Amino acid sequence: MDIACTPEELKLFERIGKVAQQMNLECYLIGGFVRDKLLGRATKDADIVCVGDGIALAHAVAESFPHKPTVSFFKNFGTAHFKLHGFDVEFVGARKESYLAHSRKPEVTTGSLVDDQRRRDFTVNALAISLNKSNFGTLVDPFNGMQDLQDKILRTPLDPDITFSDDPLRMMRGIRFANQLGFDLLPETFEAIQRNKERIKIVSAERITDELNKIMLTPKPSVGLDLLYRSGLLKEFFWQFTALAGAEVVDGKGHKDNFYHTLQVIDNVAARSNDLWLRWAALLHDIGKPATKRFEEGHGWTFHGHDAVGERMVPKIFKQLKLPLNDRMKYVAKLVALHLRPISLSKEDITDSAMRRLLFDAGDDLDDLMILCESDITSKNKQKVKRFLENFELVKQRLKEVEEKDRIRNWQPPITGEEIMSMFNLPPSRDVGTLKTAVREAILDGIIPNNYEAAHTFLLEKAKELGLIDNNS
Ligand code: ATP
Ligand code: MG
Repeated sequence: MDIACTPEELKLFERIGKVAQQMNLECYLIGGFVRDKLLGRATKDADIVCVGDGIALAHAVAESFPHKPTVSFFKNFGTAHFKLHGFDVEFVGARKESYLAHSRKPEVTTGSLVDDQRRRDFTVNALAISLNKSNFGTLVDPFNGMQDLQDKILRTPLDPDITFSDDPLRMMRGIRFANQLGFDLLPETFEAIQRNKERIKIVSAERITDELNKIMLTPKPSVGLDLLYRSGLLKEFFWQFTALAGAEVVDGKGHKDNFYHTLQVIDNVAARSNDLWLRWAALLHDIGKPATKRFEEGHGWTFHGHDAVGERMVPKIFKQLKLPLNDRMKYVAKLVALHLRPISLSKEDITDSAMRRLLFDAGDDLDDLMILCESDITSKNKQKVKRFLENFELVKQRLKEVEEKDRIRNWQPPITGEEIMSMFNLPPSRDVGTLKTAVREAILDGIIPNNYEAAHTFLLEKAKELGLIDNNS
């Protein structure tokens, strides 16, 4: 074998080779598995290409096992796969194909191994290992993928304009691989992405976002995001993000480039957490800035309200990018809404009630919010960063003290809406909401203590004020 496989993998590949030989088919290991083995990266699936019917081969190989794993297949695409102890084995018949303009529907015909390798995205993804008896384990590399792998270069097997135009998702994949593997896109490859960027419009939002999320999950997402930006691809599907780029100057006063600031914040978060959604909160924390940007005479640039505007933009962006419209979205919106709050707590002479309010509003997400806020400090001035971080430590300490004293995180006011309804014999109505909010606010502001007695007395007073009960009762 020209690649290092485990004994189990080797046994599987020998079995596949044997079954293929009985069917008189040429077959090869190909793509990501071969690439990742050569790079010493972990693998979780293997792709097999055969010159002939890939679905038939998958069935025959599955049948050869005593436990006969279930084969799933897609007739239209000529692909099939089965799982073996969590390891995914994919089969496909070698293809020749060409995509028609404005469509993702390929015209597919059967082809030879080299036809199939030619229509793969990058030379390093077109490396094949023979599973045939005559040359089992030998690398088949007509496009010099091995050299590119050693040089850490991403090059398309065909003219990049053809490769990218045939399936524009490959442009996203290229940038993702550059980021994930630490490879360089050849200048002509990158220029072809710039030329073909508009073709990305024929790719579904789900597939684009899938690649974007893989970029977001790398240790340094700024690398991929910057390539997406500079290639022009990003603007095609996520213009709200690229609108952050650039710095205007008026009366000699500039502001920071919020796009590059955001990339730095994402990297800072990535260094502290693997959570995809916390990284998304970093991406979106300043998304409301372009819409709120003003130049105030004698003062400079302001972005008043960008937190609230950003919060409202989150659902629209999630919908546009086909990200999940569930509690993950709410979490991101919440962090965007709150991202200035801890900073403001470090500036003034802060009361316990301001601390309680943040504890209540952030709830379980407080620790994530603090990670985001610390990551948001990107000044080049080391002294300034140090001072900010020290202030933050004080805020964290104060928050901890207030939480230990008052237990506000995940706190519920001592009287529920139902109790209020039965107390005053009210139907579900606005008055119930008003009373409920009034109790909560009074406790958070420290006007009354956090217990049932005090809340009950307070409610009676409030209900009188609202004319819900007789003043004499
Ligand atoms: P990863 O699994 O890390 O996403 P991969 O290279 O294995 O990377 P897969 O999507 O698993 O990517 O695809 C397996 C192989 O199929 C690739 O290595 C490549 O040869 C080929 N391939 C996948 N998608 C495309 C595409 N859009 N255009 C051309 N070839 C592709
Ligand atoms: Mg793969």
